[in-house]
Amino acid sequence: MKYDVIIIGGGPAGLTAAVYARRSGKSVLLLEAKSCGGQIINTPDIENYPVEMHISGYDFATRLTEQARALGAEIVLEKATDLRLNGSEKTVTTAKNAYEGRSVIIATGSAARKLGLENEDALVGRGVSYCATCDGNFFRKKKVAVVGGGNTALEDALYLADLADTVYLIHRRDAFRGEDATLARLKARENVRIIYNSTVTALRADKRLRSIEVTNKDGSVAELEINGLFVAVGRIPENRNFAAAVDLDEAGYAVAGENCRTRTPGVFVAGDNRTKDVRQLVTAAADGAVAATEAVKYLNETR
Ligand code: NAP
Repeated sequence: MKYDVIIIGGGPAGLTAAVYARRSGKSVLLLEAKSCGGQIINTPDIENYPVEMHISGYDFATRLTEQARALGAEIVLEKATDLRLNGSEKTVTTAKNAYEGRSVIIATGSAARKLGLENEDALVGRGVSYCATCDGNFFRKKKVAVVGGGNTALEDALYLADLADTVYLIHRRDAFRGEDATLARLKARENVRIIYNSTVTALRADKRLRSIEVTNKDGSVAELEINGLFVAVGRIPENRNFAAAVDLDEAGYAVAGENCRTRTPGVFVAGDNRTKDVRQLVTAAADGAVAATEAVKYLNETR
């Protein structure tokens, strides 16, 4: 079977694209590597999506997935590893299958950036984590550190302050990128200590993480005894497998304008892995709507 639209990625962008494409009567296959929802499932409370005052990321993702399914999108849990082009034919391959589509929307989002320290990978699950809401519960009444200065780091530190004994927030500069309101809430917490102008330069462990080396810009070095390190230093777009079909900028984002079109006719990109200024839940969903609408236009023009 050849699908009208193959969507790669089941986050808010991909799922919204599925909703729009199905409502236009197009057949839709959505491929998702793990489970639908994308990075939003790690957000405990969404306060900035229109209409909903508060909704958890998990509930948001579950409802959007149900909506896409109810409208008839076929959702398959397989990781797309390649997109091959042969004229106007497009083949998306996974470890198990090859799927043919008349158009493709790449909505693969991004993966957590690592610090690049020795032992970092080996200590994942043994004290090092990239998801506070997933792993925070393991550190009740313990000492943890969060690294980063964006909204994710601030929100992670706030979330962990409810669970842990002490939360160190380590940022490499003296000004935060994240929102002032969240920073103010964090500063009001008695068990949060902010360490400015500093980076984590070494991880010390036996079987589990025991302490970290923190180096200040002034050259001074301190050892912090902690049980958990939460890394929140941004994300890397997941476009590596599709570079043959789309141009990538120097940071790896797929180059596309607000119409989500790439250099390849019939291949679109939606969400956090696209070049854009504002990466938010609402802009990811908006991209999904635009990419699907453009895909439908392309399908109707090339029929
Ligand atoms: P981000 O905004 O890109 O922030 C990454 C932070 O990590 C920056 O403060 C950066 O420092 C620091 N950093 C980068 N590499 C580092 C390294 N190797 N060592 C130490 N620090 C490093 O990433 P994010 O916080 O994941 O947020 C991504 C996007 O999602 C943003 O647009 C954010 O606003 C959005 N977001 C929104 C919400 C919300 O609205 N509720 C929640 C979460 C995220 P510098 O500041 O010095 O560059």
